[in-house]
Amino acid sequence: MEVDEKTAKFTTEYKGTTYYFCSPLCKRAFAEDPETFLQKARAQVVDPICKMNVDKQTTKFTSHYHGATYYFCSVLCQRTFDEHPESFLGKTT
Ligand SMILES: [Zn+2]
Repeated sequence: MEVDEKTAKFTTEYKGTTYYFCSPLCKRAFAEDPETFLQKARAQVVDPICKMNVDKQTTKFTSHYHGATYYFCSVLCQRTFDEHPESFLGKTT
């Protein structure tokens, strides 16, 4: 879930970075095992079509284009990308 940095009451500092949580439960879960959560966060990529976060370890929808791999939330986004990949690239960097 998305947490607003300005209103988040539950924060934790870990290795010089501040993390924001929606509830004390999430905060505690993170504090008990930060590495697992950071690893999960690193697996998150942005779907170039709808800008949603996608877990690249679990998503089934991927495309290869010019040697790079792109990840999608659904077959719809994947198909949209495959039809005109060049129109979605260059905008995301
Ligand atoms: Zn999508």
